[in-house]
Parts: sequence; C-alpha cells; structure tokens
Amino acid sequence: MTLNNDLSGLRVVVVHAHPDDEAITTGGVLHHLATRGADVNVVTCTLGEQGEVIGETWQQLVNGDADQLGGFRIHELLSSLRILGVSGCFLGGAGRWRDSGMVGDPANDHPRSFVRSGEEAEDKLVGIFTALRPHLVITYGPDGGYGHPDHIRAHEITHGAAGRVEGIQRILWAVTGRADLKAGLAAISAVPTGWRSAGDEELACQDRVDFALELDDRDYHAKVESMRAHATQLWIADGSVSETNPHAAFAEVTDRAAAPVVFALSNLIAQPVMRREHFQLGAGTALPADAQGPADGLQW
Ligand SMILES: [Zn+2]
Repeated sequence: MTLNNDLSGLRVVVVHAHPDDEAITTGGVLHHLATRGADVNVVTCTLGEQGEVIGETWQQLVNGDADQLGGFRIHELLSSLRILGVSGCFLGGAGRWRDSGMVGDPANDHPRSFVRSGEEAEDKLVGIFTALRPHLVITYGPDGGYGHPDHIRAHEITHGAAGRVEGIQRILWAVTGRADLKAGLAAISAVPTGWRSAGDEELACQDRVDFALELDDRDYHAKVESMRAHATQLWIADGSVSETNPHAAFAEVTDRAAAPVVFALSNLIAQPVMRREHFQLGAGTALPADAQGPADGLQW
C-alpha cells in the first residue's frame, strides 16, 4: 500500500469542550494531519473556568477566588494550537459558554454554562461547519470519554450539527484504548513525590478501538509540548519547570515504549502519554478492516 503524504484539500474540524482536551486526547493526530497538509480547525466550547490550578503562581485565578482562569487559559490554548500547527476558535466566541464543571457542580446552573447552551450552541456549530466544510470531524463518544457534562454536550451538538450540513464523510470519537492504557500504567514503576498511582478502572477507557494512530517522534513531541503549554492543568513528570509550576517532578518507568512520558492532571494521578491515539468510528463511512493508521493506507 502506498502512503499518501499529501492531505492538502482535506478539511478537518475537531470539537473539544475545554482548553487542554485538544492536546491530551488528539494532540498527536492534529499535528499529524496538519503536517501532512490538511486544514485543521479546533473548536473549543468553553474557557475551562472550573478547572483547578497546578502550582501556586496562578492559584488565585480559580473560580472561587478571582474567577479569571478562563481568560488565562485562552493563552494556554493559543500556545498549544501554535505548537500543533492548527487553527482554532471558540464556539460562539470566547466566553460565550462557560465550563459546567462535573456532574452536580453548582456551575451546572450558571446561565452561561455549556450544558444549558440549548439550540444556540448547535446552530453556532452549524455555522462553523457551513463555513469550513469539513470532510472529517473528530469529537468524543456519547459518554464524553469520561462522563464530563461538557464533553457529552460537545458530542451532542457535533452530531446534531453534522446532521444538518452536507459533506461530512466521517465522525471519529477520540477514546482511550484499554490495552495501551493498562500497559502504560504498568510501566510506571515509581510516581513522583506527592502523586499517586491510578486505581483499578479509575481512568476511563474503552475496549473497542476502531483504529489507533501510531505517533512518530515529531507528532509525539508536538503532543507533549502542546500538553506542556497547559501548565495550569497538566504537570509533565520529566523534570521540567515553568513560571506557572516551578516544581520538577520525576517518574520512573520500566518500559519506555509503553510510557515514554508521564503526566498528571490536578488530581496528581500518574498517567502515561501513550505512543498511540485511539479512535472509534462515530458516524460515516467505515474504515478499511486492516486500518491501523495512515501509515497503513488509511484514507482519512
Ligand atoms: Zn475537558
């Protein structure tokens, strides 16, 4: 099978709930597609205002204090998108919808919370799809990947809007494949001081993986750097420090292939940055049965 390295003309729109989701779940594929010439746009639905903050530098920006985290995270997102080589916009413009927080969070009831975005959010996405005319759309599955209400809402409006425009050939759902996650977690032999290991089944993952994209060194590096750009949200355990988080963390790993880099969210559960990104086919034309990724001839 020949490898088609020219994806110019392919238009891709990726719908994410919060700044940092684009890096964690799809950073590798975004860089991969953009590097091969595809036109890639990331639509982010909220500013991630309900996030916690890692490191003391910007601690008082959180929603319970200054409530300025959303504005700050715009800059983290812009850095991430620049590293990945893709374009981006906020659904309805920056600040139109607010991070809803987890299930039961009082933020669910905020008048601008994304879970209450109703028809307007879908209409705005129809406008974006109409303008950008994507062939491929990427978002999450019906459970939002791990149950976050904003991720579920992103899934809903993506499928709703996709049904109202012509030309979308395929919707992919970004998931975490169970086998790779288990191997990656098993490879972490010592977590950084103050962090902890994931409990059994604590991290959401899927048995069904319709295809996995193996990240080459450049895609993997870009993904890690785009994650690092979200320093209020993500801590990379490779000894690096930043203005946001001046504390170095070190993880010990027995199998570098399964967990080349280790990171944590603000819950400080050590997780592998896996070498592959996993997807399920959400709608549209099926992938070739033997598709393992573009290197094996996958027609995006
Ligand atoms: Zn998110």
